[in-house]
Amino acid sequence: MKKEFAVIGLGRFGGSICRELSREGMEVLALDLDEDKVNEYRDIAAHAVIADSTDESVLRELGLRNIDHVIVAIGDNIQASMLTTLMLKELGIKTITVKAQNDYHEKILNKIGADHVVHPERDMGKRIAHNIISNNILDYIELSDDHSVVEVKAGSKMSGRTLVDLDIRAQYGCNVVAIKRKKDVIVSPMATEEIRESDILIVIGADKDISRFEKNLV
Ligand code: ADP
Repeated sequence: MKKEFAVIGLGRFGGSICRELSREGMEVLALDLDEDKVNEYRDIAAHAVIADSTDESVLRELGLRNIDHVIVAIGDNIQASMLTTLMLKELGIKTITVKAQNDYHEKILNKIGADHVVHPERDMGKRIAHNIISNNILDYIELSDDHSVVEVKAGSKMSGRTLVDLDIRAQYGCNVVAIKRKKDVIVSPMATEEIRESDILIVIGADKDISRFEKNLV
């Protein structure tokens, strides 16, 4: 069955989500206060409406309660974002994802009951910073304050050696969960897998362990 989504706020973030979900064949209701923004999405989303999401009767009339997942991507207007989230929660929406502007906003959204709170600028900033610090770290995803998943280039020190030979888990306390080799992805590689210089390793672990692993082996 096709999943139904609603995206509230069609700025850069909401707009991009709306575009991508529609491209993936999902049925999306796009909503914004701004007529020009809504017009931009008329041919992209299944439905595009000009409306104020802080008006409860609007949310009811649009039948939002039948939608599986609503994304609240209202930018600077924190009050409107919180009020909208609260009303969506009251309508009984199964999954609500909200973009937070700052930590204070995030805290309240979690209290109100948002299922996922995202912080795209902050998270992307972190990912890019890690990539800038180390040329070998291609990508970085924070799992918690002190754990992450990173994508690292294998480098010459590892080339031709197996995972068991490098003893990464015992020596560094982190795990290689996958190896990207050209177009292939080797998920849960065997200990006997031999690493090639152009491989990209997906490593999970504590930040301090990943950092040691990177300093010594990459
Ligand atoms: P971004 O940083 O992702 O580009 P913006 O702040 O530019 O975000 O965009 C937020 C969008 O949310 C704007 O298009 C704005 O018109 C819309 N918006 C703000 N308040 C409401 C509201 N109450 N109801 C519907 N849309 C809203």
